[in-house]
Amino acid sequence: MTDFNHHRAVVLLAPAKINLFLHVRRKRADGYHDLETWMQKLDFGDTIELCLRKDGLVRLDCSDPSLPADRSNLAWKAADAFFFASRRGKGCGVDIRIGKRIPVAAGLGGGSSDAGTVLRGLNSLFDSEFSRSELCAMALRLGADVPFFVVEDDAVLAEGVGEVMYPVPSLKGYSVLLVNPGFSVSTRWVYENLGLTSTLKESKLASFRKDAPDTPSLGTLSNDLERVTLAQYPELASIKENLLEAGAEVALMSGSGPTVYGLFPDVSISTAEMQTIAVRMKRKFGKMVFVARAKSGASPSGKGTGF
Ligand code: ATP
Repeated sequence: MTDFNHHRAVVLLAPAKINLFLHVRRKRADGYHDLETWMQKLDFGDTIELCLRKDGLVRLDCSDPSLPADRSNLAWKAADAFFFASRRGKGCGVDIRIGKRIPVAAGLGGGSSDAGTVLRGLNSLFDSEFSRSELCAMALRLGADVPFFVVEDDAVLAEGVGEVMYPVPSLKGYSVLLVNPGFSVSTRWVYENLGLTSTLKESKLASFRKDAPDTPSLGTLSNDLERVTLAQYPELASIKENLLEAGAEVALMSGSGPTVYGLFPDVSISTAEMQTIAVRMKRKFGKMVFVARAKSGASPSGKGTGF
């Protein structure tokens, strides 16, 4: 049992992520897909408050009433997984409070981030009982994207189902304008409709990294999942066009969507202009619009700017 006089509680940012690149190579026998992706954490996300309990119970409170506040919540699953494996936490439980800001089923990894952040937070409350690789293995059992939210790296190139990660520098010099059209998209449905077989598609990662192995170029960004989601929801293509017209260097769907983001270079768009563009996008599409930046090291406020 832990010493409750020390480090009983912690508050952490569970950052949203965007996929700057996503290439799906094949469907695997276990139903998962082998992919190649470039993931970037943002300085915007949920807050996770963890407070240890002495009675072995897990309790969860979530600011979004549409999400389950029981064992089916990924944050709860993460706590169960941690205490199941932990020796130092034997007999302990935890109160989890989720301040939800990341839109749900939006391609921004909200559930995975909450789960990864609970694992990371509990591990810190128990003096790093588990190594990075042990924690990643625990995370992977909860979901393919969860390991990314357990590690400190803010940006990675990833392979496999997403668990083989190579850290790369965080994206610098851009504002990220996120436009969420207000409906959710099931990741499972998108992958099922990709129509991939077990035949392995060519790797794009090597050519993608060829010129600058540690800083992939923005010129070649793409997302294979757009084919499915954009075909079903043509308005997403219109959001992309509008972002490009407004001055985005790149406009892409994140993950399985439906959130679309634009990367606006600091050198050509001022903060004030960025806000004007965000307000215009919000007026035009009437949905959730956020301006964020790539997360880079230091603990950010996590709020981003909502419009
Ligand atoms: P991914 O890109 O990892 O598939 P996503 O951003 O598209 O994720 P999430 O927001 O993670 O989607 O939500 C996926 C599903 O997980 C939702 O149907 C939701 O009900 C469920 N879920 C369980 N726990 C959580 C949580 N803490 N936050 C968000 N969703 C959760």
